[in-house]
Amino acid sequence: MKLKVAKFGGSSLCDASQFQKVKKIVDRDPQRKFIVPSAPGKRHREDIKITDLLYLCHAQVSHRVPFSEIFKVISDRYHQIAKELSIPIDLSKILLDVEDQIASGASLDYVASRGEYLNALLLAAYLDCQFLDAADVIKFHEDETIDLTKTQKEIESYVQNEHRYVIPGFYGSLPDGSIKIFPRGGSDISGAIIAKTVNASIYENWTDVSGFLVTDPGIVPGCRPIKTITYRELRELSYMGAKVLHEETIFPVLEAGIPINVKNTNEPENPGTMIVSYRDPIDPPGSITGIAGRKDFTVLAIEKNLMKSDISFVRKLLSILENHQVRFEHIPSGIDSLSLVIKSSELSGKLDKLIEDIHVHCKPDLLEIHPNMALVATVGHGMAYTPGISSKLFTALYESGVNVRMIDQGSSEINIIVGVENKDFEKAVASIYQAFIG
Ligand code: ADP
Ligand code: ASP
Ligand code: MG
Repeated sequence: MKLKVAKFGGSSLCDASQFQKVKKIVDRDPQRKFIVPSAPGKRHREDIKITDLLYLCHAQVSHRVPFSEIFKVISDRYHQIAKELSIPIDLSKILLDVEDQIASGASLDYVASRGEYLNALLLAAYLDCQFLDAADVIKFHEDETIDLTKTQKEIESYVQNEHRYVIPGFYGSLPDGSIKIFPRGGSDISGAIIAKTVNASIYENWTDVSGFLVTDPGIVPGCRPIKTITYRELRELSYMGAKVLHEETIFPVLEAGIPINVKNTNEPENPGTMIVSYRDPIDPPGSITGIAGRKDFTVLAIEKNLMKSDISFVRKLLSILENHQVRFEHIPSGIDSLSLVIKSSELSGKLDKLIEDIHVHCKPDLLEIHPNMALVATVGHGMAYTPGISSKLFTALYESGVNVRMIDQGSSEINIIVGVENKDFEKAVASIYQAFIG
């Protein structure tokens, strides 16, 4: 039988009524064999995610501040869901044990992972499925990278039988048995790893929007959904900030060509977005697929006469970054100029010394620092080798009064990135959307 992996995000499991929707979705299709839940997310705008509360508990303990009030908020949420749905499981003892572990200084990874662990126990009991602890099946190497071979070996024995399994997202275990979490939002990655290792026919990612939208609905309300998108476009968009899927989600499924279907728990009939290797028919020239971006970058603009004739210039510059353990995002360059685009958070506490080193070792004629910059990426296979795309994009920005401070276009031409000031970020995204989508 073909089997599916279905991951449900925090918004899809934030309360009892969302649990009911998830049950309907799972029950409807027997191929949905591996269910991967996140921890309960926000029920409304001002609410706090369970994972954030767990991080807070850990921080309180490390500052020797009591955390029992925060932990009670966590316990109450699980108890409330269990009570409203009469789920036949008593989490009291397990919650007490988790509280004890936190109090006695358990690792941050262990503490953060308990949101998914508890939610998966609850969901498994509600769906009448088997609970399978991610620590027993999702395996990391000692260097903290994922061990796909071992994971596949652990999970294989569960593929052939008739049971359905709930496996918590967001974490796995290291060779010494300790818990290791993925980066924030990482339940998406857990789902992709499980899909790959059980050779799923599809990886369903259930969330609170009807698929991947052309841009962030928080910036362009009611913006259009994308029917199909390639892994490559998705990678560019999620790396640049489209938050729907964690940026690393595609890697496990990419090679196996397992499609990802982003769907809406609140509107399950909507086909959502299919993420695939190739798109057919090919996009019309001049079309775009999506727009994404992030705020809070710093651009170091460097000028030096005859820069290109100094063959060691870029190497010296990059060695300085390496020495300071600062990662860069982009390096657009001109004849005698070069810009380093760096996340501002990477530079915190390091900027002054970094600048000093650049002056000493690279001797630039000019070095300017532009903080508070945002990057906006416009992505799509339809943009490649199409004249007029850039002029349409820059006209849109110009007409809405956005000052473009930096331009970077990858050689594949499926991505044009512009740097604008933080304050112009939303305006820039909205004006590009208006120009290309209308
Ligand atoms: P989950 O809780 O299911 O993991 P996330 O909050 O991680 O969900 O991701 C879904 C959210 O991503 C949406 O509610 C939406 O606000 C936001 N988002 C940002 N960019 C986009 C986009 N391009 N398409 C759809 N949603 C987006
Ligand atoms: N609960 C985790 C987080 O909030 C993982 C996830 O939701 O994917 O980051
Ligand atoms: Mg998410």
